[in-house]
Amino acid sequence: MNPDRLFDSLREQVTDLVPHEMEIASIEFEGPVVVIYTKNYDEFSGNAELPRMLAQNLRRRVDIRPDPSLLEDSAKVDQKIRALIPESAGLYDINFLDESGEAIVEAVNPNEVIGKEGELLNELKKESGWNVKVVRAPPIPSKTVSDVRGYLRANDDERRTMLKNVARRLVRQTLPGEQWVRVTTMGGFRQVGRSAALLTTRESKVLIDCGLDPGSDATPYFAIPEAQPLEDLDAVVITHAHLDHCGTLPALFKYGYKGPIYCTPPTRDLMALLQLDNIKLSYGEAKKNLYDAKDVRKEILHTITLKYNETTDIAPDIRLTFHNAGHILGSAIAHFHIGEGLHNVAFTGDTKFEKTWLFNPATNKFPRLETLVMESTYGGHNDMQPSRADASEQLGELIKEALSHQGKVLIPVFAVGRSQEVMLVIEELERTGRIPPVPVYLDGMIWEATAIHTAYPEYLNSTLRTEIFQKNENPFLSPIFHRVETSDMREEICHSPDSCIVLATSGMMSGGPVLEYFREWADDERNWLLFVGYQSENSLGRTIQRGRTEITLPARGKQITVQIKMNRETVDGFSGHSDRHQLMKFISTMEPRPNRIIIGHGEDRKCTDLASSLYKKFNIQTVAPQNLETIRLR
Ligand SMILES: [Zn+2]
Ligand SMILES: [Zn+2]
Repeated sequence: MNPDRLFDSLREQVTDLVPHEMEIASIEFEGPVVVIYTKNYDEFSGNAELPRMLAQNLRRRVDIRPDPSLLEDSAKVDQKIRALIPESAGLYDINFLDESGEAIVEAVNPNEVIGKEGELLNELKKESGWNVKVVRAPPIPSKTVSDVRGYLRANDDERRTMLKNVARRLVRQTLPGEQWVRVTTMGGFRQVGRSAALLTTRESKVLIDCGLDPGSDATPYFAIPEAQPLEDLDAVVITHAHLDHCGTLPALFKYGYKGPIYCTPPTRDLMALLQLDNIKLSYGEAKKNLYDAKDVRKEILHTITLKYNETTDIAPDIRLTFHNAGHILGSAIAHFHIGEGLHNVAFTGDTKFEKTWLFNPATNKFPRLETLVMESTYGGHNDMQPSRADASEQLGELIKEALSHQGKVLIPVFAVGRSQEVMLVIEELERTGRIPPVPVYLDGMIWEATAIHTAYPEYLNSTLRTEIFQKNENPFLSPIFHRVETSDMREEICHSPDSCIVLATSGMMSGGPVLEYFREWADDERNWLLFVGYQSENSLGRTIQRGRTEITLPARGKQITVQIKMNRETVDGFSGHSDRHQLMKFISTMEPRPNRIIIGHGEDRKCTDLASSLYKKFNIQTVAPQNLETIRLR
């Protein structure tokens, strides 16, 4: 059936299914969602059963929205709402989403906006005609979050055109005959970095992750015939915001991709932050970057966000559901249901199968699963890590030792994930008097990444959520933390005689402010360099960690040689990755057990070691492919 005929038939079905009282203004198809615009929205806005019933019958996501032509101008409504909300509510911002007719009110005390038994909220809805929703204002404002929202609002037309194109492709005519499924490894197999895999069926092509190797700047093998032309891809799915999973994504739009990107809402924002930072860093090092800010903006416009457990069609024969991966904010395991029960495959991305200071452990329960593609960063049989508690103990001891000799402590961190955990631990160590009170400087994108964490509290574990929101003891807002905002401030800290702790990016010392501190502090044996995160094979971090005593670094356009006398220690246990034991447990307690496991995201030996152990222990078919291999799943 051609798309227009199918859309007409769906419109007819909707008209038959909705209550007669509902006055339908129009029915549109936006990406995977059927949107019903109604003239009497207020009568149906509170009805949760109706969209559910429609979704079940149509087998599509359904959204009911007020007819935009009946909505009063948002600037006027903004004034009306502001006038009605009491000062005690701590009104922070009002966001108008024209496409959904929602007015999102952000307030420090949401209850004051809702009023007794929802009285005030109902009044706001009635007075404005908009679907007013109240959310808690993030305790730390994030520039990224508001920039992304603003950009989406300002480019609503372009976005809608994109969504309509996605909708048409989703219902395109499918081919007759035998069905099949296969996976092609395009990057990040038998290595860490430039993760990418192509899921191909008879009907569709989906790219999962689109990373960059932080050590060598290598990109996935885009030129393979299966992936070309990139225009033909149905979708790109991003598991999480680390650059080894999305570092080349904006470049796809330069190479001809025009389709959608699926990820969780925090991944969209963190991804933009890290990519823009990456552009800035390359400028600083006079390196050529694959893309610029305009490509990142294109990527934002093409992103369709999905929360955990929200299932959606991404191709005529593929349904996608994200599950928590426990690794960083918004990190997801991507589960694909192919055909009518033909095959189920999940890609773990990076996972942590343990409750951490920030997140709940990764999900390992799925409705159905035949193939699992999993990471093996710590897949070697000796790759055991200490517990979180032991890790903070060790970090405390090392910091105490450094400070007792008036030394400085430098911790290279990824802006996203590890820095927030290390912040939480240091805050507790200082608050409980286990280490002396010294200032903790945050340099790089750490503060902004932390702000994004507080904008998405539903993705944090419940303990932390309570501390931040219920008890008003937000550890991230502790006075020990100071943001380094200018290069003058950085210079001052570098040359100050006083002890301090610096958390700085990048995590593998491949660039960024961490190198500036390192250059200044490396030749003093009172100082300490503490590694808390994974250092990939080719990274500068790994070289320094191994104990080199001299190293050549780029400095303002020339190369300088630095003597390394500072102490170097690695604190294991802060990793956002499952260790060997957790990887094995992830599989042993998985429901259902997959028939086949494809292993990647690990150095050569880790991949093969994990593959053989999983096979021996669980009698599951395992494979640790190289890059550029294709595996038939069905
Ligand atoms: Zn990661
Ligand atoms: Zn990774």
